[in-house]
Amino acid sequence: MSTTVFVARRIVTMNCSIPLATHLAVRDGRIIGVGDASIASQFGPAVIDDRFADSVMTPGFVEGHGHAIDGQMWRAPYAGYYPRTAPDGAHHAGLRSIAAVTADLRRHEAALVDPAQPLIAWGFDPIYFDGPRMTVADLDSVSATRPIIVAHVSGHIYNVNSAVLERCGFSRDSNIDGLLRDAAGNLTGELQGPAVMGRAARTVGDAGLLRALDVPGLRAYGAIARRVGVTTSTDLANALTETNLTALRGATAEADFPIRLVPAMRAREYSLTDGIALISQLRSQSTDKLHFGMVKLVVDGSIQGFTARLRWPGYHNGAANGLWYVAPAELGAIVEAYHRAGVQLHIHTNGDEASELATEMVGRAIAAHPRPDHRHTLQHCQMADEAIFRRMAANGMCVNLFANHIYYWGDQHAAITMGPSRAQRLDACATALACGVPLAIHSDTPVTPVNPLFTMWCAVNRLTPSDRVLGPPERITQAQALHAVTLGAAWTLKLDHKIGSLDIGKFADCAVLADDPLQVAPEAIKDISVRGTILGGQVFAAS
Ligand SMILES: [Zn+2]
Repeated sequence: MSTTVFVARRIVTMNCSIPLATHLAVRDGRIIGVGDASIASQFGPAVIDDRFADSVMTPGFVEGHGHAIDGQMWRAPYAGYYPRTAPDGAHHAGLRSIAAVTADLRRHEAALVDPAQPLIAWGFDPIYFDGPRMTVADLDSVSATRPIIVAHVSGHIYNVNSAVLERCGFSRDSNIDGLLRDAAGNLTGELQGPAVMGRAARTVGDAGLLRALDVPGLRAYGAIARRVGVTTSTDLANALTETNLTALRGATAEADFPIRLVPAMRAREYSLTDGIALISQLRSQSTDKLHFGMVKLVVDGSIQGFTARLRWPGYHNGAANGLWYVAPAELGAIVEAYHRAGVQLHIHTNGDEASELATEMVGRAIAAHPRPDHRHTLQHCQMADEAIFRRMAANGMCVNLFANHIYYWGDQHAAITMGPSRAQRLDACATALACGVPLAIHSDTPVTPVNPLFTMWCAVNRLTPSDRVLGPPERITQAQALHAVTLGAAWTLKLDHKIGSLDIGKFADCAVLADDPLQVAPEAIKDISVRGTILGGQVFAAS
């Protein structure tokens, strides 16, 4: 049995007994020793690997809320506001007006040969633009005959042209939730929520986060994730169809697949009985690189899309309250059924009304069927206040806060959706910790780019693009932020005994960095370069 000893300038272990080290001994993919140079000879003959002797190692980062479809997004044109880099390294400048978006769509439209092929773009968000939102007329100016779908970056809204409305049978007279109308009652082409978006996806083509996965897409996602130091990522809404399962098993079986994947089953794909049966059966089929067991439930939409459910006083700009993706009367039964079956729930709630309701329903399920250590987790939970966090703590729930939102939408939340007072508690990491709620932080990639060092930077600095510090008391320390992207996230996945810290018996999963995220200036965390990762003792150099 061969042992490899990795040498680093400094190893931040997140392991309380040995917090700092310089040497990490690995056998069979797992950590057998951690400490100083003296451990090199403690485990028999060892190969010394000192290629990172100049670098800092931390536990490999854990993306507790990502979507593996990220690896496939770039097959469609990007219509986002912020500049973004594709997996192949191509840099896309942001599109800074609706006119710029339609001009870019025209360019892509002209390049399509088959007149029947739909034009599907992603990454759009009109909240950054003054003036009217995108309309059917805007997209008809690109083409009124070719179906066009522009997916919002939140994943919760589409804009479509008249060709799509027609094919879906959506008209002025349609009586269905989620069709936005202008003052005269005409459809604006904005489709909000799963009912109407689902029909467009089935009829025209899917632009969303729930498309079928394939092996090349998963490989691309693995490459994106490892470049930013991630060694374990969730795929937090997966239908777990045969197609998806085949892709997940195929990619993770490849020897050089660089990350562990943790898919969460979309509860709404199945009846309660079928869903519980499927997830229970899959749990026993987990491997070292593919872990089944979690279930995802989405309660509301997105705050910046005005589809999240807010408590009084509602949206700051007076917009109507958002959508329930699950009828409140139904939510309790779903939560109770999965809870009772021993399954862990990851529940998407953006608005505070949704977070409060989900917390209430988890509380009821626990009262009816007490179960220790369920670790039901609210995902995003962006507007929770102290009272909600206290109830979550009392219920034994965890939270995974969307810290990247502070940068990408913080200014818009302060000005438009939540208003300046409530926006102070956007993704309130410090309050969650003070209330004793186990904390993770995330990117929701592709909603924002996966990059745990950037996510740490957001939670530590709370800076927006206008250089405002949004809710200074909610800033957390660098150590708390590093915990939230390693052991904290691992805890929410019930994988903290295997990953998240560098401790004896755990997988040898590391991020290799140019500097120590606990020692650089807080503003510099996002600029630390990632030199590579180690997954189960296998080195992936950053390239
Ligand atoms: Zn998500």
